[in-house]
Amino acid sequence: MSKDLLKHKIFEIISETAAELNVRAFVIGGYVRDLYLKRPSKDIDIVVEGKGIELALAAAKKVGNPKVAVFKSFGTAAFNYKGLEIEFVGARKESYTRDSRKPIVEDGSLEEDQERRDFTINALALSLEKANYGKLIDPFGGLKDMKDKRLITPLDPSITYSDDPLRMMRAIRFATQLGFTIEEKSFEAIQQNAERLKIVSVERIMDEFNKIMLAPVPSVGLKLLFNTKLLHQFFPEMVKLQGVKEMNGQKHKDNFYHTLQVVDNISVNTNNLWLRWAALLHDIAKPATQRFDKKAGWTFHGHEPLGAKWVPKIFKRLKLPLDQKMKFVQKLVNLHLRPIVLAQEVVTDSAVRRLLFDAGNDVDDLMTLCEADITSKNKQKVAKYLNNFQLVRQKLKDVEERDQIRNFQPPVDGKEIIEAFDLNPSPKIGEIKEAIKEAILEGHIPNERKAAIAFMEKKGQEIGLTLVKKIN
Ligand code: ATP
Repeated sequence: MSKDLLKHKIFEIISETAAELNVRAFVIGGYVRDLYLKRPSKDIDIVVEGKGIELALAAAKKVGNPKVAVFKSFGTAAFNYKGLEIEFVGARKESYTRDSRKPIVEDGSLEEDQERRDFTINALALSLEKANYGKLIDPFGGLKDMKDKRLITPLDPSITYSDDPLRMMRAIRFATQLGFTIEEKSFEAIQQNAERLKIVSVERIMDEFNKIMLAPVPSVGLKLLFNTKLLHQFFPEMVKLQGVKEMNGQKHKDNFYHTLQVVDNISVNTNNLWLRWAALLHDIAKPATQRFDKKAGWTFHGHEPLGAKWVPKIFKRLKLPLDQKMKFVQKLVNLHLRPIVLAQEVVTDSAVRRLLFDAGNDVDDLMTLCEADITSKNKQKVAKYLNNFQLVRQKLKDVEERDQIRNFQPPVDGKEIIEAFDLNPSPKIGEIKEAIKEAILEGHIPNERKAAIAFMEKKGQEIGLTLVKKIN
């Protein structure tokens, strides 16, 4: 059975080469796990009892000499073959010190190499030795754990997690991606070691976090992060969302679990990580804006702009990209309540135009976020709200077709205003430009050049300028 798993020609070539060099080589780790789980995988790890680099160089020679990337200090080498990324490393034994997740490494045997792996399902190896080609080497019962859908560490979990606290994030990531449960002893060990996450770089933490965010049901991992208190180590704003207050018998909803529901909802409709992030952060400033009003009950006025203001700070701390992706998240957090206003029966076109102007090309994603934000348990209500948003989408479409506001470009530019009134740089230019934009959004003039020029001439004269040149 396992022989069939290594059908790809590259495995036979590596096997042959290993025999020539008189070393034992094995396919190990994630690739083997994914073969059994029938998940497509392009990263192949080969562990060698001996020099991994030598085997990589010799095998590469046989397959047409692809460029081999050699990392001498790590003892690894990798090359790409027909879309597969194949990495070779010498079998190693590891020991850890208390204040670093970087181990002291020595050469070791296959068994020692398997012992240092994080989970039994990640410690499976398939032999590339000629005599037992394709034989599964599974010293910790990984195959059974895979069938039982359980994440178990090969060694004592408290040692495994304390040695390298990143493994705690990995446990939750695998649980979320694969739908596996974390064994109870492991779960407790994660709770006990949660604070040790501080020795892990935020980049590594976020790599795992984003894999959780991209899983089919991200709330599985987000709940586990919360329950183990790992989330508390790097995302206090999220933790603060949790909890329900009561005043005069009135409760508000728990914003943490609401947020998780919104993230799950949106994940049905998009694989865009940053749209999922917008869902994660849409209510992030609710705790900070929460008030109780005797008449209105619980309010969270201004949580959208405040949340948007926090986005760069959060992205910076978590070392997430500070480019357009961040701006996109920020924009959606800021605008996430705006379509609700448009869901009323009577809506002016100018309100629709303003949203198109503010959201630009992200307006469809904004609608997807708003639809995901409906988390009522009442099915009738959900259907009604979704229907309302369908109408909003239609209104947006109609107005866009007519007025083309999404990619709004001022029909008259500043240089033309200067020419028309023979101005030196002056705030009046900005004033006229703003007035043109407002007139278009309010629907006083169409979004067209001719109308905009006429409006500019009138506006300029109104504010005391003299028209010296006709613009066409
Ligand atoms: P994926 O490919 O889904 O990102 P993976 O675990 O298969 O996950 P890598 O992160 O490249 O991919 O790891 C390859 C293998 O190395 C794992 O299967 C595991 O055996 C081992 N490994 C990776 N990280 C650790 C770790 N922090 N502690 C122990 N073993 C690890």
